[in-house]
Amino acid sequence: MALDEQWSTHNYHPLPVVIAEAEGASVTDVAGKSYLDFLAGYSALNFGHRNPELIAAATEQLGRVTLTSRAFHHDQLGLFCRELAELTGTEMVLPMNSGAEAVESAVKVARKWAYQVKGVPAGTAEIVVAASNFHGRTTTIVSFSDDETARADYGPFTPGFVQVPYGDAEALKAAITPRTAAVLMEPIQGEAGVIVPPEGFFAAVRRLCDENNVLMIADEIQSGLARTGTVLALEHEGVRADLYTLGKALGGGIVPVSAVVGSRDVLGVLKPGEHGSTFGGNPLACAVGRAVVRMLQTGEYQKRSAELGAHLHERLAKLVGDGVSEVRGRGLWAGVDIAPGGPTGRAASEALAGLGVLCKETHDRTLRVAPPLVITEAELDRGVDAIAQVVRG
Ligand SMILES: *Cc1c(COP(=O)(O)O)cnc(C)c1O
Repeated sequence: MALDEQWSTHNYHPLPVVIAEAEGASVTDVAGKSYLDFLAGYSALNFGHRNPELIAAATEQLGRVTLTSRAFHHDQLGLFCRELAELTGTEMVLPMNSGAEAVESAVKVARKWAYQVKGVPAGTAEIVVAASNFHGRTTTIVSFSDDETARADYGPFTPGFVQVPYGDAEALKAAITPRTAAVLMEPIQGEAGVIVPPEGFFAAVRRLCDENNVLMIADEIQSGLARTGTVLALEHEGVRADLYTLGKALGGGIVPVSAVVGSRDVLGVLKPGEHGSTFGGNPLACAVGRAVVRMLQTGEYQKRSAELGAHLHERLAKLVGDGVSEVRGRGLWAGVDIAPGGPTGRAASEALAGLGVLCKETHDRTLRVAPPLVITEAELDRGVDAIAQVVRG
């Protein structure tokens, strides 16, 4: 911790826990104390730490070839793209690395589509986004954030974004103009506190996009890949997007792997040299991504999320009025608002760590619960018991 303090930039405020090893839903610190992981790397660890199937796929690929750059073909890229497209019901895959890069890529593709296909006058395309969004940390992405901590002193900002309240179809309708290229939103807002939109909202977004020849982009980087009980969280809304951004769990907790997936009509606007990434779609990333897709094809993780999620929400609902003011979420994913008078989110997270449960607050008073989907019901109960204890103060 002292080394981090001195040598690492202070852009995070971690809990005072130093992890040395991990397996499944548990991590162990340097002193040998074991903790339940109730955060799962913000859903990058949906399949648990060091999942044996993923480690085997990565190890096998480490023994073959790890990086080629996209200057050459390699034998994993096409298979990864086909398998991911088939899993998500899409036609094309643009592989990148971090989530922010996937979002940046979707923004670039949407703008190019607007100019080349929709016929928006050059340099005037607009993308409508939601208030309290989180899409990553690049200069363009923080340009359309309303989180002052994430934005302050990073200007000048990228123009071309319009913000509307999340879940407000009327406001979205009013914000769409002939220059609108796309609507970009999270199916559930994770960072904002696991905010679930009102029933029917995304059906209305889809309708407005269709009526106005606007692309619908769903940022499923945190909500996707079984977190809510389905491959894509938008499935709960009975709606398809034109583009999806995926990341986090796509890398199996091993390497950063992200992608934009969507229709050929839209992703087909990219031509050689117009976009790229040295590491995007590298053989190791593709091999791990393929193993992730294989695991999702079984439906096992979606089922675990749905069943354990029902149990989690049943238990958390009982805490409302008893230290908790509100619980939101879907599947094995919850935002738990600590009632006024209780501890701050930070104090609650520290107390939970003391009890052997790792959780992290988002904003001042919300605990975000997103354990690896391999957690057992008994472990889940142990974590919820600890939450019940700390929120009472
Ligand atoms: C985490 C996240 C991102 C950014 O991903 P990074 O890999 O941290 O760049 C983008 N969108 C959503 C919804 C996220 O949760």
